[in-house]
Amino acid sequence: MTLRLYDTMTREKRDFVPIRPERVTMYVCGPTVYNYAHIGNARPVVVFDVLFRVLRRLYGEDHVVYAANVTDVDDKINAKAADEGVPIEVITRRYLDAYHADMSALGALPPTFEPRATQTMDAIIGMIGRLVRNNAAYAAEGHVLFNTQAFSDYGKLSGRSMDDMIAGARVDVAPYKQHPADFVLWKPAKPGEPEWPSPWGPGRPGWHIECSAMIEQTLGLPIDIHGGGNDLIFPHHENEMAQGMCADHAEGYANYWLHNGFLNFDSEKMSKSLGNVQLAHDLVTRWPPEALRWALLASHYRQPLAWADEVVAQARAALDYLYGVLGRARDVPAALGEPSEAFLEALHDDLNTPRAFAELHALGQQLEIASDGERAGVKAALLGSAHLIGFLQADADAWFQGDIDMAQKARVEALIAERDQARREKDWATADRIRAQLTAMNVEVMDGPTGATWKVKERA
Ligand SMILES: [Zn+2]
Repeated sequence: MTLRLYDTMTREKRDFVPIRPERVTMYVCGPTVYNYAHIGNARPVVVFDVLFRVLRRLYGEDHVVYAANVTDVDDKINAKAADEGVPIEVITRRYLDAYHADMSALGALPPTFEPRATQTMDAIIGMIGRLVRNNAAYAAEGHVLFNTQAFSDYGKLSGRSMDDMIAGARVDVAPYKQHPADFVLWKPAKPGEPEWPSPWGPGRPGWHIECSAMIEQTLGLPIDIHGGGNDLIFPHHENEMAQGMCADHAEGYANYWLHNGFLNFDSEKMSKSLGNVQLAHDLVTRWPPEALRWALLASHYRQPLAWADEVVAQARAALDYLYGVLGRARDVPAALGEPSEAFLEALHDDLNTPRAFAELHALGQQLEIASDGERAGVKAALLGSAHLIGFLQADADAWFQGDIDMAQKARVEALIAERDQARREKDWATADRIRAQLTAMNVEVMDGPTGATWKVKERA
């Protein structure tokens, strides 16, 4: 079964063939840490986490190297630090810690490498030096600029003509640029801003060069897969590729370019309700994080994703079904089996997660009707499939009851036991009174042949 991926550069789905199967390389542009991550920023993290997991299964855990950068110096970070009167490290530490916690809650494995701009200065300055030497960059008024005329393929990734790119850049072209499309590699710091020494004067790097230098340093060029949101295709990825190839890597930059679609909000509803629900940081406290992860993958990654509470509620319902099936199969010994063939086929077809989810549902249905002899095998396939991409990680009881504290849980269980007793005694009035009491506590009771089970109802 071959993994096929849609490549933005060739604009087609292609068989994935790594440069070296013993060291498959993937890079994804990471966060600028000046605030909490927006749920839209979490989409590429979760999408490429799925690809990372699929690659690890295909090539072995120790044979896939994944790097994602952290931009920890930039105008917004500087502005926030100046605002609070603290060094930039205070800002970047705070938001990087929160980012790690939030992405981990969403089930994303940590990348193999997470280089930071401030710790990559030597490599960045070294690459700019090579670009200057190769006549692909020039110094002017304390800046160093990339000379877009030096790279004949400039515009190839985004499919833009030089005329389009000039039209886009024409507003307010800086006087030190030789060509309107040229972009900054190094810029002088303003008074009071953090700066690093360089052959072109003290300053700091532009954003694009950061990624090229980090890729070269952590993974080596060319790499197999470069990922990110489709808003990064131009100019960021176009510029990354131009820099990398002109810095002594004419053989290539990335063999597969993958881009996820935008996450949109229903702006009317958003503006009416809480303004802060767009942050992953807040959402992970409002919803089970597995439901958020499911919602982020419920549309194919290249499609736009219309984010709304209903999308997360549907995701939660899909997981409720699967956890319900697992709860009813708790007598079957749990083992992690091989993912099902159909599930893998869906993932290998350019990460078709909606189809993979449909297959999980089908496995759930199969487990419900399986004969005693088949149940263990079906349960193992369901767990093996779901675990591969980070789902069904919780115990079924914990999933349904996880939102409740220990004291309240004990109280609920006491009431359930009392109600079961009343039902056995056919004291329907008492049973109904207790059910009403539980409903008031936001607990839903589900009666079954072996007694009642319960779950915390969705928060409104
Ligand atoms: Zn980047």
